[in-house]
Amino acid sequence: MYSEKVMDHFMNPRNVGEIENADGVGQVGNPRCGDIMKMYLKINNNIIEDVKFKTFGCGSAIATSSMATEMIIGKTIEEALDLTNKEVANALDGLPPIKMHCSVLAEQAVKSAIYDYAKKNNLYFEGLKDFNPDEEEDHHHDHDEEY
Ligand SMILES: [Zn+2]
Repeated sequence: MYSEKVMDHFMNPRNVGEIENADGVGQVGNPRCGDIMKMYLKINNNIIEDVKFKTFGCGSAIATSSMATEMIIGKTIEEALDLTNKEVANALDGLPPIKMHCSVLAEQAVKSAIYDYAKKNNLYFEGLKDFNPDEEEDHHHDHDEEY
């Protein structure tokens, strides 16, 4: 059911922890699985220098957040905002369809942390224009996918 990469990132998640005095912190939740994901960013000159995360949730949520942190370290903010949950899932060699919403959470966590950074620094990013930090879950996705 799960790829080797998903199992690897679940058993040995990368970049777990917190960053003290992080430049951006984002937290998102998924009421369906009960997943909660918190992401910390260290940003310097528009480059994401370090990322740490804490995820309380299912294996897919942990694996996708771990993979997402690896995919945005060293990238510009614009590149990180371009990261989609599909790219994260593909990098993990796929997720079971029932677990795709957990990868949405990883994408949202990245955006939420950058949103926090943008707000603190009075910055505007095109990639955040459709992001609503108060949105509890991915309303625009098909809710029937799980049943
Ligand atoms: Zn989940």
